[in-house]
Amino acid sequence: MAKSEEKPKIKLAVYWAASCGGCCVSVLDVHEKLFDVVAAADLVFWPIALDIKYKDVEAMEDGFIDVTLFNGAVRNSENEHMAKLLRQKSKILVAYGSCSHLGGIPGLANFTTKEALFERVYHTSESTVNPDKVVPLPEYKVDEGVLELPVFYNDVRTLDQVVDVDYYLPGCPPQTERLVEVFMAIVTGAELPPPGSVVGALEKTQCDECPRKKTENKKIKRFYRPFEIEDDGETCFLEQGVICMGPATRGGCGVRCIEGNAPCRGCYGPPADVPDPGAKMMSAIGTMIDSDDPEEILRIIDTIDDPAGTFYRFSLPGSLLRRKII
Ligand code: SF4
Ligand code: SF4
Repeated sequence: MAKSEEKPKIKLAVYWAASCGGCCVSVLDVHEKLFDVVAAADLVFWPIALDIKYKDVEAMEDGFIDVTLFNGAVRNSENEHMAKLLRQKSKILVAYGSCSHLGGIPGLANFTTKEALFERVYHTSESTVNPDKVVPLPEYKVDEGVLELPVFYNDVRTLDQVVDVDYYLPGCPPQTERLVEVFMAIVTGAELPPPGSVVGALEKTQCDECPRKKTENKKIKRFYRPFEIEDDGETCFLEQGVICMGPATRGGCGVRCIEGNAPCRGCYGPPADVPDPGAKMMSAIGTMIDSDDPEEILRIIDTIDDPAGTFYRFSLPGSLLRRKII
């Protein structure tokens, strides 16, 4: 193709808020597909890879960036500022990964408070030595002026609880193949789903895609953590008494964990017809408990280790509960 006929490159930004960094690594995981990405896009902002400052983004015209992949939840004032700034500067804002989609692992902090977290991290944890009881402050005066840190919020929020989001690409992290598919669909101008859609995932559940054997009306007397049983490699984890989030989780990852003989932990979030993953799991598990005796039922339920943390592992801020009221 003559140079004058070449399609203009899209301007791509990648940002990392409250997250572990795995989503940024998953972008790098495109391997040789990186050449297709580089051929189709100019990276205009990616703090872990490019030396571009926030003030450079602030100087961009509104809508200058074609697509921003925003990973990470909103946990402090810097995350919130960047969510609003990148929304303003981007034509398409994608919540990339579980943390921006539903709160992710950082969202488990909504089971406690900012004060309790600070107490644990800066005062009582086994590895803390802090005799002067120093804690981070949003402002600290020094001779040279005032040092500032972002304000740490009490609640972890999803990206769409702060700004409008065009698309959600779920996963912890999203499957790299799905990222490439979605990216190439945007680049080639393929017809995109309506704004607000989940992309790169299915409406079916993990169970719909799972190759493991299921029997009707399987009843169980106790639950186990995965290391407490000898998995037979073939039977549904739930039917072996191991909590698997398959019934409450969107498919599309290629049953990645189950293929590795580990139960699904729910990182793709619930399908559209499941408003709350915890409620769905309680209903799925309730049908399997092998007792009519209320006391025995409670004993069986007690064998589920950390049910709230397990059922909302990736989704508490985006669930109906949002947080524990304390
Ligand atoms: S509960 Fe888990 S193991 Fe069982 S069918 Fe569903 S995804 Fe597969
Ligand atoms: S199997 Fe479940 S936890 Fe594992 S990648 Fe897929 S959605 Fe995430």
